[in-house]
Amino acid sequence: MADMIFVEDINFKMTAKGFLGKQMLDGGFGQFRDLLSWVCWKRGKYFAQVDHKYTSQICPECGTHTGKKELDQRVHVCDECGYQTSRDHASSRVILQRGLNNVVPMDCRERKLSGNGVLSGVLCLDKCRSRNVSA
Ligand SMILES: [Zn+2]
Repeated sequence: MADMIFVEDINFKMTAKGFLGKQMLDGGFGQFRDLLSWVCWKRGKYFAQVDHKYTSQICPECGTHTGKKELDQRVHVCDECGYQTSRDHASSRVILQRGLNNVVPMDCRERKLSGNGVLSGVLCLDKCRSRNVSA
């Protein structure tokens, strides 16, 4: 299991009133998220929700807004930097970046996160460095 899990702060009840309709509620997305947060708490893992806006429209590589994707558009292609990956992988990277940006470092240990080889410690170390300089 990963040490940190970030999910989008989607209001499933509101979304169910929209274009995805009842399938959203039938799918039990809300229950899954509740369960996931409980399991994380139980296992001592970090769980947080992040802003869901534009997660499918931003390029995780360069941050450019690539525009709205239709639901059947499954590939992310960035005209700006040429980055190409599956739509879900692109949005999950945006969600991860948002989550990490919100994390307040508890210590300065360098830790590896699973997936994408992202180092949460890099953010953390930067904060420590600026703190040391000002102190
Ligand atoms: Zn890009």
